[in-house]
Amino acid sequence: MNLKALGWNERLEEAFAAYKAEGFIAARVALEHKEMYQLYTESGETLGEITGNFRFRAYDREDYPAVGDWVAVKEQPGGQKASIYAILPRQSKFSRKAAGTDVSEQIIAANVNTVFLVNALNHDFNVRRIERYLTITWESGANPVIILSKADLCADIEEKIAEVETVAFGVPVHVISAARNEGLEELERYFQQNETVALLGSSGVGKSTLINRLYGEDIQSVKEIREDDGRGRHTTTHRELILLPGGGILIDTPGMRELQLWESEESLSHSFADIEELADQCRFRDCRHESEPGCAVKSAIEDGHLDESRFNNYLKLQRELAFLERKNNKKARLEEKERRKRTTKAHRQK
Ligand code: GDP
Ligand code: ZN
Repeated sequence: MNLKALGWNERLEEAFAAYKAEGFIAARVALEHKEMYQLYTESGETLGEITGNFRFRAYDREDYPAVGDWVAVKEQPGGQKASIYAILPRQSKFSRKAAGTDVSEQIIAANVNTVFLVNALNHDFNVRRIERYLTITWESGANPVIILSKADLCADIEEKIAEVETVAFGVPVHVISAARNEGLEELERYFQQNETVALLGSSGVGKSTLINRLYGEDIQSVKEIREDDGRGRHTTTHRELILLPGGGILIDTPGMRELQLWESEESLSHSFADIEELADQCRFRDCRHESEPGCAVKSAIEDGHLDESRFNNYLKLQRELAFLERKNNKKARLEEKERRKRTTKAHRQK
């Protein structure tokens, strides 16, 4: 293995220079398992664990390595394992709110160049969802590419492309059929220079099938689903950082797959677009839709155009978002204080 095949580039070379001078070697995280990491280095595969010092400096979940990260390591005596000392700056990252009541960020994939937003050209086709995926991708720092899959099931492809283009102006759109082996060679350009691609898309749209086609061998298990109701068995994925035989890297983590579920719950908020439109028509810009005169929302409820329980759900969601924001702000302040305390302490110990 050479570092270039793993996605190494000049930006990383620069960031790594200081570590290199100290005798560290560079490794890419291929899999995470309870603070143990499978790493790819120039000399092959190795297991890595973070050092006590690393743990001391890490405050948040986001400070820990994730699949796709580049880390500076040293081989442990005996050569069985490596110690992870630092994470090189991320070029892009996908994160989600960590589980529980915690609002800290959990990184689920790092250093992704391109994201394939996979959407099936069947009953599941949904432009609003594509819009959501685009937002997530822009936030991550990676470049989106829209893949319309299962073209063999669609009779009005041109129409669907036109629909997509209304929400994704300037984003490349590719139509593929893994079943018929169509459109796949067009995707090769995204793997040139050993770039890293991740996949985003609802369950059953054909991500595993696409990975297998790109790899040229069945390495991810494909679940059988019935096209009519979309039901099927669960997929178990075994590889998370996949080196394609022809060059290029694919990232497919359970986290990325869950992100889709999480996002589809989130996209509920999208269905409140009608309420926000009504609110725009209220007489007062800061209308709280309580008892203000000229409230378009209240009058829509009164004349039956808007369901009152729907409006209450909307208010509830708004309150939750506001709460989360306050909590985030408070947490950020506490963290900053804590961090300062730690650095002063570390200084004194020196
Ligand atoms: P994933 O959940 O996104 O990884 O989806 P899978 O790759 O597991 O595919 C789900 C189902 O869609 C399987 O039954 C596949 O055989 C089927 N499938 C995948 N690609 C195509 C395609 O191009 N055309 C058709 N008709 N079915 C496909
Ligand atoms: Zn109002």
